[in-house]
Amino acid sequence: RMSLREHDREIYEAIEAEHRRQLGTLELIASENFVSEDVLEAMGSVLTNKYAEGYPGKRYYGGCEHVDVVERLAIERVSKLFGAAYANVQPHSGAQANTAVFFSLLQPGDTFMGMNLSHGGHLTHGSPVSLSGKWFQVVAYGVREDDHLIDYDEVEAVARRERPKLIIAGGSAYSRTIDFARFREIADLVGAKLMVDMAHIAGLVAAGLHPSPVPHAHVVTSTTHKTLRGPRGGIILTNDEEIAKGVNKAIFPGIQGGPLMHIIAAKAVAFQEALQPDFRAYAQQVVQNAKVLAETLKEEGARLVSGGTDNHLVLLDTRVFGLTGKEAEHLLEEAGITTNKNTIPFDPESPFVTSGIRLGTAAATTRGMKEEEMRTIGRAITAVLKGKGDLAVREKISRLCEQYPLHQQGTRVR
Ligand code: PLP
Repeated sequence: RMSLREHDREIYEAIEAEHRRQLGTLELIASENFVSEDVLEAMGSVLTNKYAEGYPGKRYYGGCEHVDVVERLAIERVSKLFGAAYANVQPHSGAQANTAVFFSLLQPGDTFMGMNLSHGGHLTHGSPVSLSGKWFQVVAYGVREDDHLIDYDEVEAVARRERPKLIIAGGSAYSRTIDFARFREIADLVGAKLMVDMAHIAGLVAAGLHPSPVPHAHVVTSTTHKTLRGPRGGIILTNDEEIAKGVNKAIFPGIQGGPLMHIIAAKAVAFQEALQPDFRAYAQQVVQNAKVLAETLKEEGARLVSGGTDNHLVLLDTRVFGLTGKEAEHLLEEAGITTNKNTIPFDPESPFVTSGIRLGTAAATTRGMKEEEMRTIGRAITAVLKGKGDLAVREKISRLCEQYPLHQQGTRVR
């Protein structure tokens, strides 16, 4: 069979180069992971050819009998995985999932409350540069300055004062357990709906290693590609029939057209994988690895936001090393360690510079790395940040990557 290699050399080579980058460097970006070959296979399937506007059994196109099977299975599996009565598996991304909830529960100009971006919230939780911040009134809550934990009393005080219609819990750079029951109490006090965006911790929730938001929230959104280890995409879950109806209308025809059926198939495959006992073992190792990484970093003189981690994520204050987050990201990249600069609570620097880097263990754990490797990695990171031996570290990281190969193909010729 002719392949991309013959037909489009430029794209083929960029994919292969990216594949080599993924193989040869250490991925510590907290929002990334490596999907299974089965997930890749579903994503690369002929399902991409199919238009299927609408929902299973109620489509606006003919020929949907097979994609209906796929979407029904995806819904069934994700509902079982998270114990939710209703699921929408069509959001193209986490941002789309969040936008659909806004579209269904809010009117332009309404007030909602989200976590301050620089304290760990996500862009879609009210940043002035995102639709969420432009079309709605946003009031923010944050973490305490002394211990970097969510200040639930502040959440309550702000909610009582501002009377938001929606409260969002969850974020992109919060390394501690979130008390969803407390958030729901606060929402009920002021008559607000509670949305939990569990994008980062979804895999841990699926494995029972972080309390589930599903029993507490009116609606839960997530991405599928982080700790959950599926294809890039979003989901929306709820136990409320009215909210489910509104969300379905908000996704289609509200903000999206045809669903990505190949991605929905890959989501279904990933949900099935997450339902297996070995996924729980994986998620346990992710959490254990983050703990060991955090401890090692501290032993080596690093300062961590909140002093540690309960989940897959570690936020490191780079000022101790006399570096900005941007500088630290760059130095680590040169040593073969991929991270991202990230604002830390009360950060004096801009989001483009920052005073922190965010680390996560989901991807390295998929490669099979465990506690011992986390100690090596923690020491390698601090060596680089202390300006010691980048080259030696680069060698060490290359060896580590060779020891833990990835079984994915780059471009596949079948
Ligand atoms: N919500 C949270 C908490 C996230 O961390 C992210 C992505 O980083 C998103 C939503 C957005 O997801 P996507 O990039 O798929 O739009």
